[in-house]
Amino acid sequence: MPELPEVETITRELNRRIRGRRIEKVHVFRADALGNRSPEAFADDLYRREIHRVSRRGKFLIFHLRPRRYLVCHLRMTGKFIVTAPLRGPHPHHRLWFALDDGSLLVFQDVRCLGTLEVVARLSASASLERLGIEPLSKDFCPEWLTEALGRSRTPLKNWLMDQRRIAGLGNIYASEILFAAGISPTRPADSIDEEGASRLHGMTKRILRMAIRKNGTTISDFRRVDEKTGEFQNFLQVYGKTGEPCPRCKTPIVRIRQQQRSTFYCPRCQL
Ligand SMILES: [Zn+2]
Repeated sequence: MPELPEVETITRELNRRIRGRRIEKVHVFRADALGNRSPEAFADDLYRREIHRVSRRGKFLIFHLRPRRYLVCHLRMTGKFIVTAPLRGPHPHHRLWFALDDGSLLVFQDVRCLGTLEVVARLSASASLERLGIEPLSKDFCPEWLTEALGRSRTPLKNWLMDQRRIAGLGNIYASEILFAAGISPTRPADSIDEEGASRLHGMTKRILRMAIRKNGTTISDFRRVDEKTGEFQNFLQVYGKTGEPCPRCKTPIVRIRQQQRSTFYCPRCQL
């Protein structure tokens, strides 16, 4: 699933490609992403609105439209956007087409149909955005905040980091990588991390996320940038997916465990 760096990469590319374009027509081939909205109501809501800019909140993409509406999108496992010249007909996994005023198409493709698209008049009207916690690349995310927040929970640290209501944007890959960089075990209860540990965790969270954004995210299986390009951060992963390989620091084999039905990768010697 795309995490913060992947969604940030897509946001930047969409801004380069479709900023200022107007939506002339919406074709819905499969309506799963629209929840309870009818395809007609969804298309009406977007008709002839300009894509003023695209931004990100946690793992959500937000299209800012004029006259004012917001198209809030979560890609889930396999959702992606493609900008293309007009096509004769949809490919099998194309779910929606947004026909733009310069003749190009913005395609929403989703193999597993778990992605979501929601139109709201105000961002505060989006229940999914309202539930999100702090942005880890914002100024508000500081060592003091993290120390305080960790102290209020006994949840194992890896699960704590992935809870979108606490910090928005971290998933399985980056939680594992950040904990390795900080030298902290993924199974430690959140409230066992002292001020010094929280400060290290804070620093590494920002550092790993920024580095991954510079490398356009991580492509393991499904993630593609706009137009099927891949990210490059998979070449810089230290522990994720490396079961049995020597730890880059101490050569101890990397271990894989299950936490909340997800794989966690870590070095049992370096991460205490
Ligand atoms: Zn190690």
